[in-house]
Amino acid sequence: MSALQSISGKGQPAEAYDVVVVGAGFAGMYMLHRLRGLGLSARVYEQGSGVGGTWYWNRYPGARCDVESMQYSYSFSDELQQDWDWSERYAPQPEILKYANHVADRFNLRPDIQFNTRVDRAVFDEAANIWQVATSDGKTATARFVVLATGCLSNARMPDIKGLDRFKGKVYHTGHWPHDPVEFTGLRVGVIGTGSSGIQSVPVIAEQASHLTVFQRTANFSIPARNAKLTAEERERFRTNYPEIRRFAREEARNGIYTDLPDRGALDDGDNERRARYEQRWQRGGLTFMSVYNNLVLDKAANDTAANFVREKIAEIVSDPQTAKLLQPNNHPIGSKRICVDSDYFATFNRANVTLVDIRSNPIEEIVPNAVRAGGKDYEVDALVLATGFDAMTGSVAKIDISGRQGQTLNQKWAEGPKTYLGLMSVGFPNLFVITGPGSPSVLSNMIVSIEQHVDWITDCISFMRDRGFEAMEATKDAEDKWVAHVNEVAYTTLYPQANSWYMGANIPGKPRIFMPYIGGVGAYRQICNDVAAKGYEGFAMTSAARPQKLAASS
Ligand code: FAD
Ligand code: NAP
Repeated sequence: MSALQSISGKGQPAEAYDVVVVGAGFAGMYMLHRLRGLGLSARVYEQGSGVGGTWYWNRYPGARCDVESMQYSYSFSDELQQDWDWSERYAPQPEILKYANHVADRFNLRPDIQFNTRVDRAVFDEAANIWQVATSDGKTATARFVVLATGCLSNARMPDIKGLDRFKGKVYHTGHWPHDPVEFTGLRVGVIGTGSSGIQSVPVIAEQASHLTVFQRTANFSIPARNAKLTAEERERFRTNYPEIRRFAREEARNGIYTDLPDRGALDDGDNERRARYEQRWQRGGLTFMSVYNNLVLDKAANDTAANFVREKIAEIVSDPQTAKLLQPNNHPIGSKRICVDSDYFATFNRANVTLVDIRSNPIEEIVPNAVRAGGKDYEVDALVLATGFDAMTGSVAKIDISGRQGQTLNQKWAEGPKTYLGLMSVGFPNLFVITGPGSPSVLSNMIVSIEQHVDWITDCISFMRDRGFEAMEATKDAEDKWVAHVNEVAYTTLYPQANSWYMGANIPGKPRIFMPYIGGVGAYRQICNDVAAKGYEGFAMTSAARPQKLAASS
């Protein structure tokens, strides 16, 4: 029995589509919209019960974007970006989810999305150049193409802490938050983890809880968001200038965010001038703090000046010197872990009902029914919030059993780290695309900019194949090897690999330490992808149909 037969062996006829898309976050939704535009039949499977992906799952207190909403939004429809009113500089999660639902309704996407359905398995039939996809409802579908829009931060990671299952209070993971309101009033709450999710939720939980204990393993750099209501004038300024703002974000900004770009390095200025520049950006707030100078992620001495500035700020904000010292990051260059953006995070530690516990020097030994035990001491809590992050970039892909040429699985192929050409395809897995996959700028960027670029490229590519009667497309080994080497080489010209970050897979025991995203910048990367397409998809091999089989809308 072939692998194909074994997957469809339930006796039910498979549904046939041109394209199966996995995931209905911003990537899957836009992919569906573009495929519809080509006249192709597409089916999106989403394991959640609604659209929005990240913004469907991450409903924890304080969750909001950290790229400004006027930029963290789709640009493909000018009517949409002119119509939609963002309320705040950084919209809260419920509003971003409402936006995702609005997009689904506005473009009538729901009829082609099957919710509450997980894709468990995908097998490539080499003879027919068709993917066969098995879903959690026991059905199968066939498709010429599969697009993994499964998200880079969608596989919430439960920490492996002894006794967690015996805790008698409620346990919440920020990345898998309940849909019903969670009430912390009057409770003693423990938060484990101080990345972006912990840093956003701590100030809000502190206002509700009778006592909040924050368990910190690694102190993180965080910049104030300076969140505020958006005025009609501010929205209008963006709307009028959208053509240039979006162009700049796509083509010129390394990270897909419109901002003024630095013209010098940190060591080109004297102490006073440098301090004034950092102060100005600190007052402005947000991620673009790292754009003060052009060498902050390249030169350790330059980086130290920014890191010291932030450490001094923490010391100014936090009243207790010992707590301030613990909150000052000291084991990685600023920016080498995803920088955090907060609203009153450091000031929260001045509250009488908040305690910081350093679990780097006093690791958590176990969780007992009513407490977290660390350094021989019991910290009593009624509820636990795990802000412990994700199996990032590859985690959700790895959960699907994907079998390519000659039965090789993607997990086998990526056992020593993900290998892709342009982050889009992997040798041995024809007609399988990944959106914002490892080897693309992805998580180092305003993700919607990167998502739109990938979706547009994939759409053009499928259209190209259809027009020329190609049935299968696959990266060549030579192109993939060179790209993997290039991604790695560029990463090591920066300070990023110096941190034990989720970019490196370092948060998952046993995961290979590879710097996964491409750090060359979204503008340069877009140009490379465009050039590849212009040269007839250089580095990809396309094959024609042995038995011509047309895609739905072929003429
Ligand atoms: P996701 O939104 O993760 O959607 C993927 C979907 O695929 C999910 O709904 C998942 O359920 C589904 N799925 C996965 N596997 C399967 C399967 N096997 N079968 C069926 N369905 C499956 N980025 C920014 O640029 N700016 C920000 O401000 C920002 N803030 C963030 C805040 C948080 C809390 C988090 C966690 C991430 C944030 N990100 C941000 C990154 C964010 O993930 C992206 O911006 C973007 O939302 C990703 O969209 P996506 O569609 O690629 O993936
Ligand atoms: P994260 O950055 O990986 O942070 C996880 C935290 O949990 C870290 O402090 C980590 O400590 C700690 N941790 C993990 N396992 C632990 C264990 N077993 N014991 C004790 N501590 C443990 O995850 P995240 O905060 O969810 O953020 C992930 C990414 O999502 C962000 O970097 C960002 O890209 C995105 N995000 C964005 C926003 C936003 O502001 N818009 C908000 C949330 C998330 P170590 O550092 O020591 O490993």
